[in-house]
Amino acid sequence: MSLIVQKYGGTSMGSVDRIKNVARRVAKWHAAGHQVIVVPSAMSGETNRLLTLANDITSDPDPREQDMLAATGEQASSALLAMALIAEGVPARSFTGWQVPVRTDSSYTKARIAEIDGDSIRAELDAGRVVVVTGYQGIDEHGYITTLGRGGSDTSAVAMAAALGADECLIFTDVDGVYTTDPRVVPQARRMRVTSFEEMLELASLGSKILQIRAVEFAGKFRVPLRVLSSLTDPLIPIEEETESGTLITFEEDSQMEAAVVSGIAFSRDETKFSLLGVPDTPGVAYSILGPVAAANIDVDMILQNQSVDGTTDFSFTVLHDDYERTHEILKTQVGPAVGAKQVIADSKVCKVSIVGIGMRSHVGVASLMFRTLAKEGINIQMISTSEIKTSVVIEDKYMELAVRALHKAFELDQDKYIPDDA
Ligand code: ASP
Ligand code: MG
Repeated sequence: MSLIVQKYGGTSMGSVDRIKNVARRVAKWHAAGHQVIVVPSAMSGETNRLLTLANDITSDPDPREQDMLAATGEQASSALLAMALIAEGVPARSFTGWQVPVRTDSSYTKARIAEIDGDSIRAELDAGRVVVVTGYQGIDEHGYITTLGRGGSDTSAVAMAAALGADECLIFTDVDGVYTTDPRVVPQARRMRVTSFEEMLELASLGSKILQIRAVEFAGKFRVPLRVLSSLTDPLIPIEEETESGTLITFEEDSQMEAAVVSGIAFSRDETKFSLLGVPDTPGVAYSILGPVAAANIDVDMILQNQSVDGTTDFSFTVLHDDYERTHEILKTQVGPAVGAKQVIADSKVCKVSIVGIGMRSHVGVASLMFRTLAKEGINIQMISTSEIKTSVVIEDKYMELAVRALHKAFELDQDKYIPDDA
């Protein structure tokens, strides 16, 4: 007998029929003797509907009240799922975050989980029940309802798995796993059978939207094995077959990883670039430029500064699209004149493409293959940044798909390189 946490996303809970299918799937696990905690999202579109109502009332809804409202989506889906389970003959009870309780801080609309008291849930499980716990929410020290930010049910599920020492946390979603890159861009993209937390973190933060980043961080920190899999398969598919499907996200040392040096390619259009030309190459310049940007709470991603020949240099950095106008304003009115820049150039037509893989630690020539591949396609690299398991480039956005396809091929991600244990 194992303790399994299963999270179902909004699409998986999207209609009465889908909820009934979730109940059948959960009933199958329960019948096989497993203890199951289910963490559902709100039915698809429901959270958006609620937040739109809030914005129709006022352009600046009170955050505490917004959470009070948004949390109801999961309360409804959880109760419906518990009913469906009971109708299937499975003893089940649903609980809201505050009933558990899931304790969080008081940052309404983006609260962080501090602690989960698992006693009441354990008692329900020991009594043979399936426990349904609302995703996305908790309670703060005042007893007020909080929510964990959009996509927060992933984090709820992982936190629940960590708190109760679950054997695995299964994230059921509308895709069948994590792919080497977006299959809409590269039809040859492959589902990864296994990947590591580190790679998943890079892929998640680089724009692969399958899992909330905080959920991956949490799972890595508390060593919760995660599996991403499809809820759109036949709910009665045998359990062994089900656990073989999807993508297991685990620890490098615990499993045999795929033998690829680069395991995935991520990309993001959400990038804009600024350059200040002809700024003095003196101590404090980077601070004079980025200090005001940071003070405005704008996140800077990549930074590039060149060596000077004549005492002046060019300084470039990137920010997200949402911060483009504000950053431009700060540079034009404040920073540019203050540091005496000859010119401020703003460019929103850039994108970021990254190759990710833990194999990069032990292999040389990975970045150079990337650069050679882009050169062959005639794509100019504007900026480069690297970390231990990632190399990112900024390029003109019209070349994004071409770059991703070329790199996917160059790193042989089209081919299945998985080596089974008995090979
Ligand atoms: N229902 C919430 C949202 O739509 C939380 C979640 O689905 O993870 O963001
Ligand atoms: Mg989600």
